[in-house]
Amino acid sequence: APSLVWLRQDLRLADQAAIAAAAADGPVVPVYVLDDAVARQWAMGGASRWWLHHSLVSMDRSLRALGSRLILRRGDCVEQLAAVAHQVGARRVYALRHYEPWWRNAQKSVGAALDLCLREGILLAPPGAVRTGDGGPYKIYTPFARALEQILPPSAPPPAPDRLSAPDQWPDSDQLDDWKLLPTRPDWAGGMRAEWTPGEDGARARLSDFLDNVGDYDSTRNLPSQEGTSRLSPHLHFGEISIATLWYAIKGRDQGSASFRRELIWRDYAHNQIVQFPAYGSEPAREPFDAMPWRDMDEAADDFAAWTKGQTGYPIVDAGMRQLWASGWMHNRVRMIAASFLVKHLLIDWRHGARWFWDTLVDASYANNSVNWQWVTGSGVDANMFPRIMAPLTQSPKFDAADYIRQWVPELAHLGDNAIHDPDAFGRRPAGYPAKIIDHRAGRQRALAAFAAMKG
Ligand code: FAD
Repeated sequence: APSLVWLRQDLRLADQAAIAAAAADGPVVPVYVLDDAVARQWAMGGASRWWLHHSLVSMDRSLRALGSRLILRRGDCVEQLAAVAHQVGARRVYALRHYEPWWRNAQKSVGAALDLCLREGILLAPPGAVRTGDGGPYKIYTPFARALEQILPPSAPPPAPDRLSAPDQWPDSDQLDDWKLLPTRPDWAGGMRAEWTPGEDGARARLSDFLDNVGDYDSTRNLPSQEGTSRLSPHLHFGEISIATLWYAIKGRDQGSASFRRELIWRDYAHNQIVQFPAYGSEPAREPFDAMPWRDMDEAADDFAAWTKGQTGYPIVDAGMRQLWASGWMHNRVRMIAASFLVKHLLIDWRHGARWFWDTLVDASYANNSVNWQWVTGSGVDANMFPRIMAPLTQSPKFDAADYIRQWVPELAHLGDNAIHDPDAFGRRPAGYPAKIIDHRAGRQRALAAFAAMKG
């Protein structure tokens, strides 16, 4: 009898343990179920849906080259998998294990209805693989990373299968276009098409570009004007390249690879956090933050809109927010600056920012997004960062963001390397560019006063 492979954010053939296990068992029926209800408020946002469409096209193409194909279904994942299994007489469902709270629930439900065999393959090591002296999970990054390094590397990635045997008869499949994952009017995806090639081939190409530069990662990764980072995040999020493949590809490379590996460990750490604290995306881990006097959104609506549109009057923040809107991605240094600006200068609850990112990022990940927003806010289980208020006007020249601003805020492109970070201060603000929506000092004082009131 054939087996099903239940695909989710693991859209690759190489080092995909669920596909390999199913292939060893006989004929394989790869299935992707679009289940918008399962994740409730964390159903994929617009940018992720754009990515998903193209990634599914690519996956189907790769499967067809092996004599297989991708079956598409929409609706409740338990019901749909059961229906496909029934139609083809499948005994088993293979899948990679995912750690978002809704996938953990769904894995239980599918496991109750069908013979579900889960394999690892999302992370360097499964959450819980390393434990503190007391036997509990780690809460803080540095000791977590130190412990994880002791059990690495992950096992070497096997190659993709060169053939998949087909069932006697293929089950019914939806047409991808009917899912309407792509924007129509307005078509906001032009910048994304220009920047990205979703799918396993695109991921491999991105990796090979990055391998030429990984030696400079340490010195360039904080500079948004340069392509110093890998830009592999959406490929990793959709599982188009395995983390082990990446780990082995950079092994033995020079210097930069050590700090790059630390970033990959951040990703494991973030998943470890959402397993310990499934509500990390919607509840501050530090209780006092429940009492933080965030601004009322009726009153703050205009400021929030200005932030989303990149119209705050702070060029580095605006460049980041416009890069996000146009391309579905933002440089990590600028994510920190823009997030901090929202939460502190504008005193807007981090959850509004996290939601905007969720809808606009092509790499939107429940673990990474929630953990990083709580980290910037200081409401997470780790460092209390709230009183450390980043100054965007200092950060911008410090990380040499002039060219980055020129690219994303064209109305400032003519300004020189000094004035571009703060045109107002040089009396050079062009007519089409907004004045600062809040003064740095005033924003800082309001934030610190709110923090004091919270601690009250
Ligand atoms: P590289 O520097 O090349 O790093 C390689 C990989 O390591 C990344 O692809 C990513 O998978 C992982 N990584 C790097 N930095 C982090 C980090 N701080 N936390 C967790 N993993 C990391 N990353 C997401 O993947 N999805 C998100 O939704 C997301 N939201 C964020 C929200 C905020 C407010 C902030 C400050 C950061 C967020 N990040 C998120 C983390 C980070 O900004 C991105 O992973 C990174 O910019 C992706 O670019 P890259 O692939 O070029 O990174």
